[in-house]
Amino acid sequence: MIEERAATERRAHDQRLASLDFALSPFTIAWEVTRACAFACRHCRAEAQPRRDPRELTSDEAVRLIDQIRSSAVRSSW
Ligand code: SF4
Repeated sequence: MIEERAATERRAHDQRLASLDFALSPFTIAWEVTRACAFACRHCRAEAQPRRDPRELTSDEAVRLIDQIRSSAVRSSW
C-alpha cells in the first residue's frame, strides 16, 4: 500500500517536472556564500580560508541576487 502510494506520488512529481521549462527557471540553486572558515579540514573541497574573499557578494548584493532568483521562480501549485 505504501509502495503504491509512493509510486503514484513519484509519477505525479515526474509529470510536474516534465511540464517545467528549466531554461526559464532553474530547478535548483547552489550558492556557497563564503569561503571563510575558522577550520582547515584536510578533506575540504572548498579551499576554505580564514577570512572572507573580497570578491564575495556584499549583503546588499546578496539580497539583490535572492530577489532576482525569487523573481525567476515558476509559479506552481507545489
Ligand atoms: S570542511 Fe571546509 S568549510 Fe567545512 S569546516 Fe572544514 S574547512 Fe570549514
